[in-house]
Amino acid sequence: MKKYAIVTDFDGTLTTKDIAHEICLHHEITSKDQIQTSYDTDDEAKNWMISHFAQVKTTPKEFERFVLKIAKPRKHLKELKHFCKTEKLPFEIVSGGLDIYIKPILKNMGFEDTPFFSATAKISDDGVIVSYPLLEDYRLDDFKASRVQHYKDLGYTTIFCGDGITDFRAAEKADILFACRSLAKACDIEEVKYTELEDFKKILEIVKNK
Ligand SMILES: [Mg+2]
Repeated sequence: MKKYAIVTDFDGTLTTKDIAHEICLHHEITSKDQIQTSYDTDDEAKNWMISHFAQVKTTPKEFERFVLKIAKPRKHLKELKHFCKTEKLPFEIVSGGLDIYIKPILKNMGFEDTPFFSATAKISDDGVIVSYPLLEDYRLDDFKASRVQHYKDLGYTTIFCGDGITDFRAAEKADILFACRSLAKACDIEEVKYTELEDFKKILEIVKNK
């Protein structure tokens, strides 16, 4: 019987909306059209986060209230998480997003025990200061791919879920891929096989070996 490991992106993948984008839209730092055309490469994604969040003026309380209001998990995440926990299957988040929203959102969903990799951020009077200590030796897309490789090396059949361009290298590496939005488009162009990510039901069926 196959043993599965799930590695997933956070923004717009585990959650229905991209939380980073929603925060910047809420603070009127960017527009929907600008987001559409804002970044196509890995470095641009990281720089986009640093430069845009530097303009977000908020307080920890206001910030948390907003992110908890907008963050909704994709359907069937709870069942999948529960099954992975019971069967001791790795379920890990790799994100270019910020710890200061991922942590409270996971806690609010009851998933505070989920391991995640992300940027670290601090709310200051001058804006949100974002840093990527994990990416000193890595590009974001390579880092995500390295986590898929990590589980492959341990003998797992890997399932990766993503929605963005920085998910592409991990997507190429995974044994089973669920993709949507920009990642799905990139996979179409590069002829990488995937299943459209709608919710976590199909993934639950796979890990249950159904
Ligand atoms: Mg994403």
